[in-house]
Amino acid sequence: MFTFTKVRLAVIGIGRQCVSARALNGARAACRGFTSYSPDDESSTCVNELYDIVISGGGMVGTAMACSLGLDPNLAGKKILLLEAGHKKETDRVPETYSTRVSSISPGSATLLSGIGAWGHVVNMRCKPYNKMQVWDACSDALITFDKENLQDEMAYIVENDIILASLTKQLQTLSDRVDVQYQTKVLKYTWPRPYHVAESIPWVEVTLGNGKTLHTKLLIGADGPNSMVRRESGIPTVKWNYNQSAVVAILHLSEPTENNVAWQRFLPTGPIAMLPLSDTESSLVWSTSLQHAEELLELDEESFVDAINSAFWSNENHSELVETAGSLFRTALSVLMPDSGSARQLPPSVSGIGPKSRVMFPLGMGHATEYIRHRVALIGDAAHRVHPLAGQGANLGFGDVACLTQVLSQAAFNGKDLGAMQHLLEFETERQRHNLPMMAAIDLMKRLYSTNAAPMVLLRTLGLQATNALPPLKEQIMAYASK
Ligand SMILES: Cc1cc2nc3c(=O)[nH]c(=O)nc-3n(C[C@H](O)[C@H](O)[C@H](O)COP(=O)(O)OP(=O)(O)OC[C@H]3O[C@@H](n4cnc5c(N)ncnc54)[C@H](O)[C@@H]3O)c2cc1C
Repeated sequence: MFTFTKVRLAVIGIGRQCVSARALNGARAACRGFTSYSPDDESSTCVNELYDIVISGGGMVGTAMACSLGLDPNLAGKKILLLEAGHKKETDRVPETYSTRVSSISPGSATLLSGIGAWGHVVNMRCKPYNKMQVWDACSDALITFDKENLQDEMAYIVENDIILASLTKQLQTLSDRVDVQYQTKVLKYTWPRPYHVAESIPWVEVTLGNGKTLHTKLLIGADGPNSMVRRESGIPTVKWNYNQSAVVAILHLSEPTENNVAWQRFLPTGPIAMLPLSDTESSLVWSTSLQHAEELLELDEESFVDAINSAFWSNENHSELVETAGSLFRTALSVLMPDSGSARQLPPSVSGIGPKSRVMFPLGMGHATEYIRHRVALIGDAAHRVHPLAGQGANLGFGDVACLTQVLSQAAFNGKDLGAMQHLLEFETERQRHNLPMMAAIDLMKRLYSTNAAPMVLLRTLGLQATNALPPLKEQIMAYASK
């Protein structure tokens, strides 16, 4: 919990007057005669609550960031604060029913969560590993499968977002001497530092909270999601577009118990539909489709909804004879050239029902902040990049940001550098954009390539998918990239 006793008061001549924004303005004026706002001399600044790092947004990514910074030995002694507008997550009770929001967590993210002590809680609470993925086209017979040669290995894990957040929150509680946390605290405004020579400006980022308090930080980390206020108010340009699609999610009851260790995704002309394993008898649905169709799906009675899901996975109504013939010839040629390549099609389990009140819809879009950093500001997670869920990468990219930013800040602290300085923040931006941009481009290309049932395009992607499926080294590279 955040407490005043931990706050470093550095108020010169004005005592407790520096508590509200208005008072601070007055205090600044009062201080003008007493201080120069030197960033190197913290004691000379006229501020009441000064943090080394403030993380705005305690979703999965922001909370992971707080744990990661709190555990870093080089950052011991730094004042770190996490601000979250929502309630604190319940950490001790695993709900009986599955929650509708789930994420496919890559081995790389599992390693990060393990390193910050949260993965053990995830495993103890609830998660489902899978070791195979089948992706196929509704307009042809083309398919690609990814599996671990040794089926003992996990390809990824399906975990409810609530479980990830509860696990991170549980871990963060153990770091209460290192990280302050304020829940139900919305940030209303950020005021950015001006150049040092501007006499009336403080050198830190000023954060105005909904509860009327104002605090300051040397580094603000924006983890406040796709509509990030940090990104908007810092003036960082964003490239974004709407897919005019929504994802309908639901908990699915399977017709019969199965090992259920395969993630299934079929590309329909309206968008991909995915069935992700949760247990032997339950899976999670993520059906991306047009806004109108999504609304219709939400309106259907349960039986019709289940029929629509089964038909979306099983029906061949979108197949074209021309593409099928060409695809079949190509497959035969590939099997002659590479007899051991390719893999047999498996059929997904059939669905018999859905979890009560589990049908919900989310708008989908793509967005990328052209810069992840500014002086004293860094963006992570969906605040920096938002992707279509078809590759299950959004949160994973965010956890990658957490690992990279921790490393960069740890090094800066070790070298006694100013944590908010551009020099090392640039390292973070370069490294993460190098990873995130190609991934985002690939996801966007896939989305566009599969959004049509025009025969030439279907033929092109059919041949491409079959060729990729026949090339294990290429598939391994794709898997390795997506596993980070
Ligand atoms: C249908 C669907 C399926 C998905 N599947 C996957 C998947 O399989 N794998 C995967 O890796 N990703 C997946 N994603 C993406 C993933 O859910 C997101 O990338 C991830 O949740 C982003 O986390 P975040 O912490 O960056 O942002 P958010 O979850 O949006 O968290 C932002 C937090 O900031 C807080 N906040 C905002 N403004 C303020 C403020 N002014 N003051 C204080 N607090 C504030 C909010 O309350 C919130 O808690 C999926 C997304 C969707 C829509």
